[in-house]
Amino acid sequence: MLELTEENEYSCDDVFRLLDQYSEMVARGENASELMPLIKHHLDLCKDCLEEYEALMSILQATSI
Ligand SMILES: [Zn+2]
Repeated sequence: MLELTEENEYSCDDVFRLLDQYSEMVARGENASELMPLIKHHLDLCKDCLEEYEALMSILQATSI
């Protein structure tokens, strides 16, 4: 039995790959948590990825002024 379903959670690798896109959406004011709910879900659970996300956000915010 394969456990891969559409509801499968992302691994940290998956999240790291998509984190650029996700944080750019957030920075543009788009509803990233609705468009990429699995990323949001992972960030709620995974401190490592959340820290990476926050680092990306601070870079994006610093460069968008
Ligand atoms: Zn993670």
